[in-house]
Amino acid sequence: MTGFELREYIREYIGREVAACMQCGLCTAVCPVSSFMDVHPAALVRRAQRGDIDLASVKSIWICVGCMACVDKCPRDVAPGLVIEALRMIALKNGVELKKYSELAIDESTPTIQLVVYSRRNTG
Ligand code: SF4
Ligand code: SF4
Repeated sequence: MTGFELREYIREYIGREVAACMQCGLCTAVCPVSSFMDVHPAALVRRAQRGDIDLASVKSIWICVGCMACVDKCPRDVAPGLVIEALRMIALKNGVELKKYSELAIDESTPTIQLVVYSRRNTG
């Protein structure tokens, strides 16, 4: 998927414009689980701008707990949490299976909310 196609999909799906991101990093700063991600929220948005995301391998889209703290902070109304939601939808539509626990970097320091949200996603 090209950057143009990915930006179009995100625009249609969540009504937000990833091209507006100015890489201020606030979304990453407020994200409670960014330290568990392989690609932090601001970098995910940057990659979405460029269409440079391998949705079959990136783990962050399954680590995000959907708390939307980043949405409140974004000065450009990009709504990174919703962008990640759109990326999850694209991945699932393209046949990527939900990640298994064993494929995620989960240990005793992992926030409980992450496990709860992850379980919900796996059980519908
Ligand atoms: S807070 Fe908004 S503008 Fe700043 S890096 Fe994140 S998505 Fe981009
Ligand atoms: S919605 Fe996802 S990316 Fe945004 S702050 Fe919450 S966990 Fe982090």
